[in-house]
Amino acid sequence: MGKMTLNPTPNIRKFLTAFVLTISTGLLIILAHFPSSATSLPPPKPHPLPSTLVQWNDQTNSGDYFSQVAKTEIGYLVWSQFPVQVYIERPITVSNQQAEDWVKSVLQSVQEWSVYLPLTVVEKPEIADIKIERKAPPLQLSPDKKILRARSALTTYQFYTKNNVLLHRFTILLSPSQTGNYVVAAARHELGHALGIWGHSPSQTDALYFSQVRNPPTISDRDVNTLKRVYQQPTSLGWNL
Ligand SMILES: [Zn+2]
Repeated sequence: MGKMTLNPTPNIRKFLTAFVLTISTGLLIILAHFPSSATSLPPPKPHPLPSTLVQWNDQTNSGDYFSQVAKTEIGYLVWSQFPVQVYIERPITVSNQQAEDWVKSVLQSVQEWSVYLPLTVVEKPEIADIKIERKAPPLQLSPDKKILRARSALTTYQFYTKNNVLLHRFTILLSPSQTGNYVVAAARHELGHALGIWGHSPSQTDALYFSQVRNPPTISDRDVNTLKRVYQQPTSLGWNL
């Protein structure tokens, strides 16, 4: 686990709530306690579109699912400082083949997304924007609070301030019980959330489809179209308080 260096101002402290999306249950779950006033936040403005997304041109006109992406109380969850720094938890024991395969699969998903947004893998969790851990997410209570359910992945974010700029960081937990193609698919899906697609596609052919499928799709044109639209939206993130 990395050391959290949260340094919130009093007005930002109330925003430091964990937000959660999960795919294992086929449900979009956002745990949020939104404060009513946001007067101290930087006014939401769009950032310049990253060149990777400027260059993106969907030849197939396949549309997007931007309407499914949630806007948070600070605006859209876009990154504005590139490359985004990704930390991947390494196995402690060298001989653990399954853990090594897991790292390879997660690395593959990082490479896939880096075509569309500049990403870099860092070795220190404390400087990472996105931390990916090989760890089972905590069991989840069903809506009637009677049954504990297992989740294959869990992605949460937090806000913090640095040099008077409002920033965010993500933590992704991926269950060690997943293997093979499912690890790549889960990492690809959760990374999509962490890069700003805070919602789910209704289509099985998109990486951000709300449920796991037998033959997981790669990043689709619709995923990238959606990502591009997200990065054209206003946000308080990345701007001076
Ligand atoms: Zn999801």
